[in-house]
Amino acid sequence: MTARGNLFIVSAPSGAGKSSLISALLQDKPTDKQVSVSHTTRKPRPAEVNGQHYHFVTSEEFKALIAENAFFEWAEVFGNYYGTSRRVIEQTLTDGIDVFLDIDWQGAQQVKKVMPEAIGIFILPPSRAELEKRLTGRGQDSSAVIAGRMAQAASEISHYGEYDFIIINDDFDTALADLVAIIRSQRLTGAGQIHAQNDMIKDLLAD
Ligand code: GDP
Ligand code: ADP
Ligand code: 5GP
Repeated sequence: MTARGNLFIVSAPSGAGKSSLISALLQDKPTDKQVSVSHTTRKPRPAEVNGQHYHFVTSEEFKALIAENAFFEWAEVFGNYYGTSRRVIEQTLTDGIDVFLDIDWQGAQQVKKVMPEAIGIFILPPSRAELEKRLTGRGQDSSAVIAGRMAQAASEISHYGEYDFIIINDDFDTALADLVAIIRSQRLTGAGQIHAQNDMIKDLLAD
């Protein structure tokens, strides 16, 4: 029997580095983990590809998906709608693959309610100044959008206490190593090992 995959929720104020950390984690195309591609009504950034970064949809399409109960969770963030597909999450976890949700605190609360075993990770930038520098340096958003996201940063950060783990993304490689350590630790829990090592444990317990 394949052990069910773990569900990781990754949240952070915009620009803290969650997309970069998740894509570094998946760079070698591991077969045991995958990021969930959300649906959004936000317009694509210059470097974004439909179906890869997001499924870009109209407000009408998004509302139709809500009506079909297609979302595991959805929320309005910075004036746009974002949502996680229910079908993809369920299937991927059942296949034993870990899933990463890059979602905001509102989505995180919804997921924890229906799946309390989901593991919450909050990414913090080392300072406000550095956060602004990263948002600007990313070069993908207008100055009005950046100002709006900076204005929301403290509100997002105020939810850090609702997460199981907190990573400070100061030095990128250290933050990535912290993320890898968290994922590894979750494979080693008693509950996880009972499933993954079932045959071996049975053999060890045999008289
Ligand atoms: P960035 O990740 O902050 O650079 O910006 P994005 O535009 O990619 O994401 C905007 C906000 O929407 C962030 O707070 C995300 O965590 C959140 N978000 C993205 N996808 C989802 C989702 O599927 N569900 C929910 N609830 N929030 C999401
Ligand atoms: P988020 O997905 O949280 O909005 P991104 O992953 O897009 O954030 O990161 C925002 C910007 O900051 C990107 O240009 C990224 O290359 C940069 N960045 C991420 N982590 C670090 C770090 N530890 N040090 C310096 N720059 C970083
Ligand atoms: P961005 O517009 O910069 O891609 O994302 C802005 C915020 O929306 C980020 O904090 C991101 O985590 C969040 N977000 C992206 N997709 C989803 C989603 O499907 N659900 C929720 N709740 N938030 C999302």
